[in-house]
Amino acid sequence: MKIAVISDIHANATAFESVLRALDEEAPDRILCAGDVVGYGPHPRQCIEMVRQRGIPCVLGNHDEYTSQIGMQDLWQIREEAKTSIVWSQSMLSDHHIQWLRNLPRMIDVEGIQIVHGSHALWPPWRYVTNSAKAAQNFLFQGRQIAFNGHTHVPLLAMHRRGLPAQVIPLTSCRLPRNEASRVLVGVGSVGQPRDGDCRASFVLLDTEKSTLRLRRVEYDVAEVQNDIQAAGLPGKLAQRLSAGR
Ligand code: ZN
Repeated sequence: MKIAVISDIHANATAFESVLRALDEEAPDRILCAGDVVGYGPHPRQCIEMVRQRGIPCVLGNHDEYTSQIGMQDLWQIREEAKTSIVWSQSMLSDHHIQWLRNLPRMIDVEGIQIVHGSHALWPPWRYVTNSAKAAQNFLFQGRQIAFNGHTHVPLLAMHRRGLPAQVIPLTSCRLPRNEASRVLVGVGSVGQPRDGDCRASFVLLDTEKSTLRLRRVEYDVAEVQNDIQAAGLPGKLAQRLSAGR
């Protein structure tokens, strides 16, 4: 079985369309999403509609959660430009969209794999699994051998084998360990706001028979999204970072 995992679309419908075209070529058996459909970008409504039309199972991301909390922005401990974009997103969405975001699950468990947005460890909330200590904490709560996440916007591979410390390395296409006792958490990067210095959208394909992971990068029209960010009156920083991939 071929499973594609996408994440952190962040209301960037232009990048998402390019990724969906690449996915049509790849023709995976399943497409799963690790959350943050909205936030930062100028197309929140379109991106929710696209995920729903394709019937892509999706978990709750932190931006999805904040966007569903109308009038609660004083409680969010996030950067000012993120807050501005979330409050703007709320104004663009119907009650129906807000309800859809609110109902997203924190974890999906399908075909023997798990999908979370940040970490299996739910406290502190919305952890970034970027080092061995945070990976070790994640693996205490990860029930399946293979899981996928997003949140860091960087393709990363967290691994643990019995008797060895957990480690986190940049993700490249690779073969997975077959040892049942091992644990792997695959960070798939971001569709709509990559932060590893490569501005192309990213997603990951798992081949469950061959036990292989393939990282795919997809070009999209960054300038078009930057224009839409400006036209929406969103902070300029959010447009600049798309071409920098940071
Ligand atoms: Zn995100």
